[in-house]
Amino acid sequence: MSADFAPTPRFVDGGISYWWRDLGEPACRAPLAGDTDADVAIVGAGYTGLWTAYYLKAHQPDLRIVMLEKEFAGFGASGRNGGWLSAEPPGQLGRYARAHGRESAVRLQRAMFHTVDEVIAVAGREGIDAHIVKDGYLQVATNPAQQRRLAEHVPHLRAHGWAPEDLQLIDAAELGERVRIPGASGALFSRHCARIHPARLARGLAEVVERSGVTIAEETTVTQVLPGQAVTDHGTVRAQFVLRALEGFTSGLEGHRREWLPMASSMVVTEPFPSAVWNEIGWRGAELLSDEAHAFAYVQQTRDGRIALGGRAVPYRYGSQRDARGETLGNTVEQLREVLGRLFPAARGVGIDHGWSGVLGVPRDWCATVAVDAATGLGHAGGYVGHGVASTNLAGRTLADLVLRRDSDLVTLPWVGRTVRRWEPEPLRWLGVRGLYAAYRMADRQERGSASSRTSPVAHVADRISGRAG
Ligand SMILES: Cc1cc2nc3c(=O)[nH]c(=O)nc-3n(C[C@H](O)[C@H](O)[C@H](O)COP(=O)(O)OP(=O)(O)OC[C@H]3O[C@@H](n4cnc5c(N)ncnc54)[C@H](O)[C@@H]3O)c2cc1C
Repeated sequence: MSADFAPTPRFVDGGISYWWRDLGEPACRAPLAGDTDADVAIVGAGYTGLWTAYYLKAHQPDLRIVMLEKEFAGFGASGRNGGWLSAEPPGQLGRYARAHGRESAVRLQRAMFHTVDEVIAVAGREGIDAHIVKDGYLQVATNPAQQRRLAEHVPHLRAHGWAPEDLQLIDAAELGERVRIPGASGALFSRHCARIHPARLARGLAEVVERSGVTIAEETTVTQVLPGQAVTDHGTVRAQFVLRALEGFTSGLEGHRREWLPMASSMVVTEPFPSAVWNEIGWRGAELLSDEAHAFAYVQQTRDGRIALGGRAVPYRYGSQRDARGETLGNTVEQLREVLGRLFPAARGVGIDHGWSGVLGVPRDWCATVAVDAATGLGHAGGYVGHGVASTNLAGRTLADLVLRRDSDLVTLPWVGRTVRRWEPEPLRWLGVRGLYAAYRMADRQERGSASSRTSPVAHVADRISGRAG
């Protein structure tokens, strides 16, 4: 291992996430106190469950809501993510448009723009200090193929609700005024993104929801979801509505094993950069940053002057297995370290303090769903394909409207009530995802070493086979 970005003596692998280490892992709330009656049972206390409870209570304060959480609120992806509160859609706009018409996809996109501001407004109103700064995001091209793809995204996005003021292609000089990345030829800039501290948002929301009268039962595992019942290891909650909010953990529930693939994403966080390094990089704002690689990396500058960088190094474990407490697999940390070195060579020598992973939910058609079946009272939301930080809020508002039969614009958005085919059984699932990411990494290597602006044909084939192409 080179001395660049080497793990420091304080390095932790797993430990849920750096965000929880920074904040302090919370003491768990009490488990479910035996069989209970409620109006709504919510399974999982990540952002989806918490936002749903928040809006249900906001509309109908006397509703009896019980949240059932296996560990503690924010233990899952909601307390481990990259902190991109972003208006990027939870799925392919083209696919939503083909199924429901272009106007419908545009409505979803406009709702996502509003959602970023809604989260910021609620955090402000409720006194949640989640280190939020809305400086937008930069999607950076580091080779000619990436640059061409960025340019090709623009007309596609323009056709689906992104106006000129929502998205601009900027050149290398303009990019250099915001951040200096060696070899970068330009970027897409959007103002619709804010940096957050994920665990602070999860913890703050859980406290707000609890104060509003919602019961959050922690260390309580739901073993079965049936119409009118959520069965747990501490008793059964009988409720008219039972809502699943498990995203990447859905495959652990009986009857839902192949619904959403638990895709692993991993992150590292560095020590704070010395100010000389920040000066050299010239990154003075809090923009979120990603590259346009097929196996892309996502980056945030933390409030305490570190860099947190993530990517999908080992994207899937055989049989939909998940990490226990965020530990990474294989050479994940080394792979992310290499990306850090490429993007920020000026910071070489700065150490890495933490590495962790988590799971997000990927449906077979790479598009998210929100649904409530009025006949059975069963509902669910998720499959945000890595864009869940903001979309969980939109999903929560939508679930609340569906449960309360509110005739809002949200209940007709194109992600409502979709049915999606299941993932293939093993070993096809494992072979497929492994092959997909091997192909993306190969395509990225080819494009990195090439002067051609053509996207590697390997990536085109992988997109088509996986269903990821929108
Ligand atoms: C490393 C990483 C980086 C990411 N970065 C970003 C990003 O920067 N921007 C973005 O938009 N999205 C990002 N995502 C995705 C985003 O974090 C998720 O889509 C979102 O947090 C999902 O929230 P959720 O509440 O639906 O699920 P989760 O937060 O995963 O919550 C599910 C909860 O269910 C609980 N649970 C599991 N099984 C049971 C059971 N049987 N009974 C009861 N409870 C159970 C879990 O403990 C967990 O608390 C990232 C994800 C990961 C893993």
